[in-house]
Amino acid sequence: MLRASIAIAAALLLPLSFAHAEGPNLQDPKVKALVDELVVANHILYNQGVVDGFGHISARSPLDSTHFFMSRSVAPSAVTAADIMEFDADGAVVGGDQRAPYAERFIHSEIYKARGDVTSVVHGHSPSVIPYGVSHVPLRPVFHMSGFLGKGTPIFEIRDAAGAEPDTDMLVKTPRLGTGLAQALGKSSVVLMRGHGFTAVAYSVPVAVFRAVYTDQNARIESEALKLGRPQFLSEEEAMNAQTSMEKLSVRSWEMWKVQAASAK
Ligand code: MN
Repeated sequence: MLRASIAIAAALLLPLSFAHAEGPNLQDPKVKALVDELVVANHILYNQGVVDGFGHISARSPLDSTHFFMSRSVAPSAVTAADIMEFDADGAVVGGDQRAPYAERFIHSEIYKARGDVTSVVHGHSPSVIPYGVSHVPLRPVFHMSGFLGKGTPIFEIRDAAGAEPDTDMLVKTPRLGTGLAQALGKSSVVLMRGHGFTAVAYSVPVAVFRAVYTDQNARIESEALKLGRPQFLSEEEAMNAQTSMEKLSVRSWEMWKVQAASAK
């Protein structure tokens, strides 16, 4: 009787243990909530023009802080909960998942390794931001929404990270290049990538989205201001104060962007 019960219990548990072989365990409510947030974030970033067919957002796993979640290789606008995959600290796919991941997952893995405070990473190629990675004009906070840019934004030079063969295809598709990017980022919230794009990091998915959206807006406003003359930037102190005030309110824009993205579908 006991043996029969154990056999039945084992038979019932077996499918459960394989249920999340592909992607994060959605049976866990914390994981489910984060995956749903990540899906919304993908749609917002597309709707706000921060990503197009390319670009991605990830989140650190709430169950294993060395792991992170990110979509399989599809356009951000098309991402659903079923597309989210789980990766380990080295950017390797977890759980025998055979689906194709993004080539640039090492942007995410190496930043999570280097920055314990970071729980979400956004990478995109906004055209407005590119000029600041290829010129000598620094991207600096020009209005109160982008205080997180602080003293200015570091630039990742992929040739330096690539070493002996500096002529890459510009993609951060090895752990070595990811490490170089994480080093360039340092303690900043945003790093520009020369001739490629940018990466923004934060302590939550909504704040990472907030920073990515306002990095793009800051770049557009700064470029306009530069046409008029020499812009007056926020001081370091102003930037810090503005960041504290505005990021507290970031949920307001998140909720609005969420509705906009949903109605655009
Ligand atoms: Mn890229």
